Amino acid sequence: MATCKPTILGPALLWALLAGSALALGARREVEVQLDGIPYRPVAAVAAHYHLEIALPRSDNEPVRLTNPQVRLHLYPHSRRAEFNGTLVWLNAPVLRSRGRFYLSRADQESVLEPLLRPTAALRGVPHRRVLLDPGHGGTDSGTVGTRGTREKDLVLDLAHRTAKFLEAARVEVEFTRTDDRALSLDQRTRMAADREADLLVSIHLNSAPSAATGIETFVLPAAGHATTVATARPARVTPFAGNQHDAASLVLAHAVQRSLLGQTRAVDRGIRRARFQLLRDAPCPAILVEAGFLSSPEEESRLNDPAYRDRVARGLALGILDYLTAVRRSRLDTAGSPSSPGDTP
Ligand SMILES: [Zn+2]
Repeated sequence: MATCKPTILGPALLWALLAGSALALGARREVEVQLDGIPYRPVAAVAAHYHLEIALPRSDNEPVRLTNPQVRLHLYPHSRRAEFNGTLVWLNAPVLRSRGRFYLSRADQESVLEPLLRPTAALRGVPHRRVLLDPGHGGTDSGTVGTRGTREKDLVLDLAHRTAKFLEAARVEVEFTRTDDRALSLDQRTRMAADREADLLVSIHLNSAPSAATGIETFVLPAAGHATTVATARPARVTPFAGNQHDAASLVLAHAVQRSLLGQTRAVDRGIRRARFQLLRDAPCPAILVEAGFLSSPEEESRLNDPAYRDRVARGLALGILDYLTAVRRSRLDTAGSPSSPGDTP
């Protein structure tokens, strides 16, 4: 407003800003509650913290909708299901409703919302030079075998080579845990990541299920003390694993790769899931494990046997990795210490 005098508005604005940030900081601690034995925060306070508009559901089947012009985040009551800009993400703990208010676990605010909504802050200082691709299985370990005899170990090696071609064309330094048909222990794979100073680790697998399941899923570690998506019970151990140091970056990587894979393949979105796989637990850098399709599904097996489809999967992997690397680089260019905008999604 042109009529306002800066001498009056200045101190008033400063006071409002200071009061606002003090309230935001205080609110986070004061409103935290213990539900089911873990710390939870009101979704309304979380929304306010990230300047997101909140729309409450009219029934239990509808999500709590948190939005701004760049973000569409859906949280489903009494469920670990969440959708971030259309991609399915399984939370560490269910969103709860108590006395008419909705609550999100502290672990999910810190290791899911924070990296997805503020990747610039979450990725600051993360190295981004060398990518280690890990084709699963090998040698005497065939992995899963499709109904037509397709072996996981062969296709994931081919996928890794194709992915590397795309990455190398974009001048990214790529290493492999294996480039031929040999057996490697999980220990050897994580040790290679440490010895070769890998900045991120992408393990490539194909899935199998007794059901007619199809689609793509990307695994990250659950936050320390939280359940996997395989079992609903929380583990006895609450101390973090080595891999938990990289939870924020791994989640940004998982989201970029899962979104890109779905865009390239149009496969069913099974989401970002959580498991304490040894490879993820012991990883010395941000790490994900991608299950790029089901060999137990005859349709998906025949699609994966088509080299043109494998090229699409590989392009999806590579473009996701490149999106992540771009987000890391952008966080370096951002002036140190400046708060990132709430909508700076990669
Ligand atoms: Zn596998």
